[in-house]
Amino acid sequence: MRRRGIAHFTSAGIASRTTQIGARSFEGIRRGLYSTSAQLAELDHNKLVIDRTKAPKPKIPNEQLVFGTQFSDHMLTVEWDKEKGWDKPHIKPYQNLSLDPASSVFHYALECYEGMKAYKDANGKVRLFRPMENMKRFNRSCSRLVLPTIKEEELLECIKELVRIDKDWVPQGKGYSLYLRPCMIATQNFLGVAPTGKALCFVILSPVGPYYRSGTSSLPVRLIADTKFVRAWPGGTGNSKVGGNYGPTVLSQKEAEKMGYNQILWLYGPDHQVTEVGTMNMFVAFQHKNGEKELVTAPATSEGVVLSGITRDSIIQLVKQLPGWRVTERPYTMKEIVDAHDEGRLIEAFGCGTAAVVSPIQAIGYNGKEISFPLGNSGQAGNLTQHLADTLAAIQYGEVPHDWSIVID
Ligand SMILES: *Cc1c(COP(=O)(O)O)cnc(C)c1O
Repeated sequence: MRRRGIAHFTSAGIASRTTQIGARSFEGIRRGLYSTSAQLAELDHNKLVIDRTKAPKPKIPNEQLVFGTQFSDHMLTVEWDKEKGWDKPHIKPYQNLSLDPASSVFHYALECYEGMKAYKDANGKVRLFRPMENMKRFNRSCSRLVLPTIKEEELLECIKELVRIDKDWVPQGKGYSLYLRPCMIATQNFLGVAPTGKALCFVILSPVGPYYRSGTSSLPVRLIADTKFVRAWPGGTGNSKVGGNYGPTVLSQKEAEKMGYNQILWLYGPDHQVTEVGTMNMFVAFQHKNGEKELVTAPATSEGVVLSGITRDSIIQLVKQLPGWRVTERPYTMKEIVDAHDEGRLIEAFGCGTAAVVSPIQAIGYNGKEISFPLGNSGQAGNLTQHLADTLAAIQYGEVPHDWSIVID
């Protein structure tokens, strides 16, 4: 868009034509869609084929919802082939996939995904939270694995239609939502490590309750700072939501639980930089000696150590508006946390992500020492943590009008 604008100012005719060709091929490369000859089909939500289930499943009462274990009646699937592009999108009854065992997703983790939620407001309207950000990140993850990318607005239209069809599966009530899981997998049956010629994009829906139950914010968690395993490193894939990042963390998570902790605090480098917590972004609030209050989170750069969370970005934007606080994206280390703890300058800390939204941190185990964090007036979450959890929930459930919350039905 901007390129075309500049062309208008510089000169007419030829210049703007060149720019357009430039823009087109750039777009093509970005989308990975140019093959040698044929014009590849883009995803088109107008071509949606809808097959409704003849056997709807019984809905699950809120108190019986267990994160990521129950699924709605329908799913979305779209197939991609490198000769033809995107096929017609299909909404159909939730069902097994049938794949060749040689499909490269099974061998080389050519898979990436997204996590987003649909919320039901007090008027029964269904809302999504900043969904285009998920679409953009999905394409960035796909590009990292040379999986096909997909037209963001079109995929979002298909997802909206899927959620409308399953809107009775969006649970009502604060803390309850329908978790949406878009996923892209390589389905070519080929044992070589190479770009896939076939892929499947699918979206499944799972009704969920609070991650750890306690109103709008979750119950406080205890973390173990992992000085043995590393989640992500510069030049790696930590800033993409690729499945291969998560499988190897199961071992550390199991060891953490054996030691009586809920989650891993991921560190990086010999100076033990703090990066993320479990599958969430991490924030720490410091009281500085000059009286300033600073909320810090590690930078989510293209370097690849920290995933660029949408909840993280929303919190940064919210805290920028909060009087009395400075919010900073900068590297910080365990030493800074230990020093602040010893000097009584730790205000609070929390993790954040779509699943748990905001997760207060009670303590960090580090090098045999226990660093505890104040938990505010409620005794469940720091005051800033609680304020952010409440503010985000008010936006997500449509109690406070905000352009982050999109009504879809
Ligand atoms: C998904 C994810 C997050 C949170 O991102 P949101 O967009 O806020 O859900 C943070 N860290 C990791 C490693 C993640 O996979």
